[in-house]
Amino acid sequence: MSLHDKSLTQLRDGIQQGDFSSREVTEHFLARIKKHDAQLNSFISVTEERALQQADAADQARQKNQGGVLNGVPIAHKDIFCTRGIRTSCASRMLDNFISPYDATVVDKLGNAGIVTLGKTNMDEFAMGSSNETSFYGPVKNPWDLERVPGGSSGGSAAAVAARLAPAATGTDTGGSIRQPAALCGITGLKPTYGTVSRWGMIAFASSLDQAGPMARSAEDCALLLQNMVGHDEKDSTCLNRAVDNYLSDLDNDINGLTIGLPEEFFPADLNGNIADVTRKAIAELEKQGAKVVSISLPSVKLSVPTYYVIAPAEASSNLSRFDGVRYGYRCEDPSDLMDLYKRSRSEGFGDEVKRRILVGTYALSHGYYDAYYLKAQKVRRLIRDDFARAFEKVDVIAGPTSPELAFGLGAKKDDPITMYMADVFTIAVNLAGLPALSMPGGFIDGLPVGVQLIGNYFREGQILNAAHRFQLATDWHTQAPTFAGDI
Ligand code: GLN
Repeated sequence: MSLHDKSLTQLRDGIQQGDFSSREVTEHFLARIKKHDAQLNSFISVTEERALQQADAADQARQKNQGGVLNGVPIAHKDIFCTRGIRTSCASRMLDNFISPYDATVVDKLGNAGIVTLGKTNMDEFAMGSSNETSFYGPVKNPWDLERVPGGSSGGSAAAVAARLAPAATGTDTGGSIRQPAALCGITGLKPTYGTVSRWGMIAFASSLDQAGPMARSAEDCALLLQNMVGHDEKDSTCLNRAVDNYLSDLDNDINGLTIGLPEEFFPADLNGNIADVTRKAIAELEKQGAKVVSISLPSVKLSVPTYYVIAPAEASSNLSRFDGVRYGYRCEDPSDLMDLYKRSRSEGFGDEVKRRILVGTYALSHGYYDAYYLKAQKVRRLIRDDFARAFEKVDVIAGPTSPELAFGLGAKKDDPITMYMADVFTIAVNLAGLPALSMPGGFIDGLPVGVQLIGNYFREGQILNAAHRFQLATDWHTQAPTFAGDI
């Protein structure tokens, strides 16, 4: 088995046992990135020199019986995480030349566990999008079909993992940005309960929704990565101070008696019939293993897209005000006065989708409209949360499709923001409620992967990872690779 076909867990074990060195593994992935990424554009920066230094340090640590639990294993970070001494662009011209002076907590924690950083992955600008087409550095291609999008906003991370350019990657999910690209690229990705992973050093989009999580090929690898990302951080006041769960210990548990709720709202009449079939078949596999399936209803979930598109832009307009060409970010040439500097720096530094969000958000928060939009949206958010709370009195896990569509063609929705926003119709409610959810590969339609979403109650990451792992022990969808990824 070539190194790039090994899972994160196998690579960790192999390095620990001395079957291969971190340097060998790291060089192998760097060579694959060099060979294939020109086609995919999944990386914004490849940090070869740094990666090799980290790999050598990991190999030395091993010699001395030191090193963390992920000693020497290489992964990629979404370019939304600050990385000390390395450009952190958030895929925006605004931060094209920003070299972060510090590491995000997630980067720091994984670094302490021994992770080697291969580079920074492409994404939608400031994580706003569902297709990875809003990046200043150009779109990412889906490794299953280079004419199609990988999903977004963590599209670079999803494409890189699917194409075996990295065994795993970090992502962030504000309205679906881990789960939707995971679904469209045929990998596994998890958004944790809000407050489980520190947001410090993760460039803010919508602070009450943003959450970082792992993206890998299997639930087992996601559990391993997540285990090393979580934990209280006094630098993020929304990061919860509670004992860290063990996501690995329950992975193998049998799922006999697990109750799975299928919300009728996740299987609307106009849902692509093939996607509904694949999803139902995947759930039937869990049923075969002893899970009990019941129908439920989440009536307010239909309001989640409009609710999100008031709250997320409102928070974004506030978060992005710091990029003014003075305190942070791109500064225009030869400003005539201060007003000109602000105006042109922001006009030239931000792309169209980011500007659209800032305008919508500023409008929703402005005097006279705040009550009608922002306050109303917050109330609907509560109704959505209450729907889930009621459902979780009866069921352990909620399941359905991750995305209403397969990977769509590049450019297909680029000029129609509303259609693009609907790509997250099954994922957004989870962020509004703050719940954990994952997407796992459930099958293929015409050679394109289909993702199945499992939503858990608060802090039940372990339970959905367990169900996904059991599914992956019985199926091989998650082991399929796009054809060109096979050679070195
Ligand atoms: N696609 C959604 C948006 O554009 C969600 C993005 C995200 O989760 N970062 O806002």
